[in-house]
Amino acid sequence: MECPKCKSEMEFATLENMRVDRCLQCQGIWFREGEHKLLRKVKGSELIDIGSEEIGRDFNTAVNVPCPECGGIMDRSADKSQPHIHFEICSAGHGVFFDAGEYRDFKETSIGDLFKRITAAPPGRN
Ligand SMILES: [Zn+2]
Ligand SMILES: [Zn+2]
Repeated sequence: MECPKCKSEMEFATLENMRVDRCLQCQGIWFREGEHKLLRKVKGSELIDIGSEEIGRDFNTAVNVPCPECGGIMDRSADKSQPHIHFEICSAGHGVFFDAGEYRDFKETSIGDLFKRITAAPPGRN
């Protein structure tokens, strides 16, 4: 399979009998329909996301990203509980594409996000 973002070759990464495609170059991950939600419940599944967040951020700005299964342009979407995470989703339901580092973020507990919100808050009193 060809990476929808950087057109490099993708390799298989297997976890808990589920197989995802991970790009050898940008290390973005393609999850078939619903797999990212199933894998989110699997302890340690963030280990499949081995890429650098910085590279992921660069590729996150890509537009008109084609679905690797059907070639249709995917929609940009955000997770309801973590709206800062943007991923591409095939409108025909083939799957979703996470840039490097985004799945780790997606997988993180809400405690992690709460912590981020606290540290990101401007100092109230000085
Ligand atoms: Zn790639
Ligand atoms: Zn598709």
